[in-house]
Amino acid sequence: MNILILGSGGREHALAWAVGQNPKCDRLIVAPGNAGIAQLAECASIDILNGAAVVNFCEENAIDFVIVGPEAPLAAGVADATRAAGILTFGPSAEAARLEASKAFTKEICDACNAPTAGYARFSEAEAAKDYIRRTGAPLVVKADGLAAGKGVIMGMTVAEALAGIDEIFGGAFGDAGAEVVIEEFMQGEEASFFILTDGITALPIGTAQDHKRVGDGDTGPNTGGMGAYSPAPVLSETIAQRAMDEIVLPTIREMARRGTPYQGVLYAGLMIENGQGRLVEYNCRFGDPECQVLMMRLGAQALDLLQACAEGRLADIQVNWAADHALTVVMAAQGYPGAYVKGTEIKGLTDLPEDSANMVFHAGTSARDGAIVATGGRVLNVTARGATLAEAQARAYAMVDAIDWPEGFCRRDIGWRAL
Ligand code: ATP
Repeated sequence: MNILILGSGGREHALAWAVGQNPKCDRLIVAPGNAGIAQLAECASIDILNGAAVVNFCEENAIDFVIVGPEAPLAAGVADATRAAGILTFGPSAEAARLEASKAFTKEICDACNAPTAGYARFSEAEAAKDYIRRTGAPLVVKADGLAAGKGVIMGMTVAEALAGIDEIFGGAFGDAGAEVVIEEFMQGEEASFFILTDGITALPIGTAQDHKRVGDGDTGPNTGGMGAYSPAPVLSETIAQRAMDEIVLPTIREMARRGTPYQGVLYAGLMIENGQGRLVEYNCRFGDPECQVLMMRLGAQALDLLQACAEGRLADIQVNWAADHALTVVMAAQGYPGAYVKGTEIKGLTDLPEDSANMVFHAGTSARDGAIVATGGRVLNVTARGATLAEAQARAYAMVDAIDWPEGFCRRDIGWRAL
């Protein structure tokens, strides 16, 4: 089987690492890829937001299966284009990807199927939104409707903050993504991520994880794309996960199918957990980054069988073979991140690290230059390990971090603290 993975981050490195181990995989190409991915797959430069360009590439290279990593190509309809060309594809249609691309749409679906989520109101006009905020009072969460790379969500802990959020969004800070706002009730609790594969009918849970959004130890400092993750997340117990399946995930999948826009791919449910129940914070239509790294570390080569069964509509016939293990990933970022950060610094010591089923350094933002690996992004490496316990996985991951020689990089030292 010839496989094309779209994307260039640590998520796609982890997908390529898992999929490439499966004996079914003959040729593996990642577009555009990065320096770490280039060590285990071919990298190709294509415009991954252009469906026609992706289809052309697939036809020229006899690609049998396309796996879409990030949300932008999904929202741009790339999975629609490859499927229309008869190429087996993992990832939802643009219509179904609205579950991530529009927060108002997600709320509409939750209403239609009675899924527990924060109460909300929608506005396309600033004055009405402000009246609502003054009447309701704080705390509230103010969100731009569309994709804003995690920046379109403003915590209104006071009325003034919520009002300022309205000015920011309707002032054009997020372009078209801010044409509408959703104002939500502020939910208390602990957040965790729940990953489900679905072929549009059957839903197969493939693991839980917890991310670390803040840049600093003890969850301090500004928000980032994620500084580390671990799986499983003990806060998402089996009982809570089953309840979330019954109350949120399955009703959503049925509602999407009922509307004639079945959802196929990975459905990533962000849940707020309180008093034994999860409420939906958001859906994402792709794997989380860095959560994908810990899931792939735990799934290994069977990931390809699972993604293929999902794309072929055969999820009812397949099971996940779980090892009773834990995985943890530490993100190493360039100093300054998430603000302006240094670029082009050399990372040494990577070649001496173990690379096996329990230890892997996934690359997120690297390039090769004159035989050296240099940092080119904000989040640069995802140092990932497995263990019989979470503590063991954590110790292994930090042992690798400590062996990496990169003075211009940094990481959090407390990944996993909630579960440990
Ligand atoms: P990201 O890409 O960072 O996930 P996003 O733009 O998709 O962000 P959301 O996931 O809806 O936006 O919100 C971002 C974060 O804000 C959530 O992960 C959660 O921590 C917090 N948040 C969102 N909605 C609420 C809510 N109603 N109550 C409490 N916290 C919330």
